[in-house]
Amino acid sequence: MLVVTEETCRNLITREDAFTAVEGVFAAMASGEAYNFPVIREAIGHADALYGFKSGFDRAHGVLGLKSGGYWPGNEKRGLTNHQSTVFLFDPDTGRPQAMVGGNYLTAMRTAAASAVSIRYLARPDARVLGMVGAGFQSTFQMRAAAAQREFEKVIGWNPHPEMLSRLEETAAELGLPFEAVTLERLGAEADVVITITSSFAPILTRDHVRPGVHLACMGTDTKGKQEVAAELVAAATLFTDEVTQAVSIGECQHAAEAGLIEEARITPLGAVVNGAHPGRSSPDEITLFDGTGVGLQDLALASVAASSARDKGLAIELHL
Ligand code: NAD
Repeated sequence: MLVVTEETCRNLITREDAFTAVEGVFAAMASGEAYNFPVIREAIGHADALYGFKSGFDRAHGVLGLKSGGYWPGNEKRGLTNHQSTVFLFDPDTGRPQAMVGGNYLTAMRTAAASAVSIRYLARPDARVLGMVGAGFQSTFQMRAAAAQREFEKVIGWNPHPEMLSRLEETAAELGLPFEAVTLERLGAEADVVITITSSFAPILTRDHVRPGVHLACMGTDTKGKQEVAAELVAAATLFTDEVTQAVSIGECQHAAEAGLIEEARITPLGAVVNGAHPGRSSPDEITLFDGTGVGLQDLALASVAASSARDKGLAIELHL
């Protein structure tokens, strides 16, 4: 069994690796070759923690395993990240453990890769202005991955806590792009692609904010009750997701579905666009929305790449259980 540390993952896994792995697993999910098992997530009644498992099997790539971890709100005071996760991979032929891989960096990379895949396949080719809603830990990963997908000329951003916007400005500067903090009205009026990555429980962007032809990558809503986009805006968009059952239960589509504004049948797995089974954007004025809820198979895909690469480069620790 291999052990691959967080530091090794940071040194090994590039944005291109993450993109290719997520694109591949989305395609396998859409063709029925890969599936996620039911998610377990429990408040454990200790340290205010939420703990759970996300697991699945990707037959196309021979990847079986789980990501275990969750959210420990007191961690920051201890100098640790609040979100903690570890991935375990098993040999699908024998059930023997193959690898234990640090999952924190990989989670940020796979989440950013998911919205990047959506931008590659759904945003207008002439998109030039990237709008960011959210300026937390994930936002920098999101911006870097998105920037590689179109010839963006500018980043504009809004955050409920404006003091955090310097993080977006610094990341844009690193990418050689000008940054401007704007109102939500300007963000919606000017952005060709909008990424939402907040932990909001009330709609931030409404139908009136956005321009025709925008692509929205809604990445923050991954739990029942969270919401970044008004249900009317979701209903007005052509909808794509990683996994339809998650979109209507814990994703951005949950509110529009509950209100009876959309039906599951209107939501297309992004992998179907990757596979060529769905054409994706059908007109320059269409609003496309990717509801990125986050699935275990994304984590397993990146962990599998990290494990093989670490083994090949002699960077994995080998154990015999
Ligand atoms: P973070 O704590 O570093 O940042 C939180 C962000 O949300 C900041 O922009 C903050 O200003 C904003 N925010 C905080 N409280 C808010 C509120 N009550 N209303 C509106 N906005 C609020 O978090 P992060 O690690 O950057 O994660 C952002 C979100 O992305 C979280 O909701 C997290 O659960 C989600 N996430 C989703 C996936 C996925 O696969 N879809 C993966 C990882 C994280």
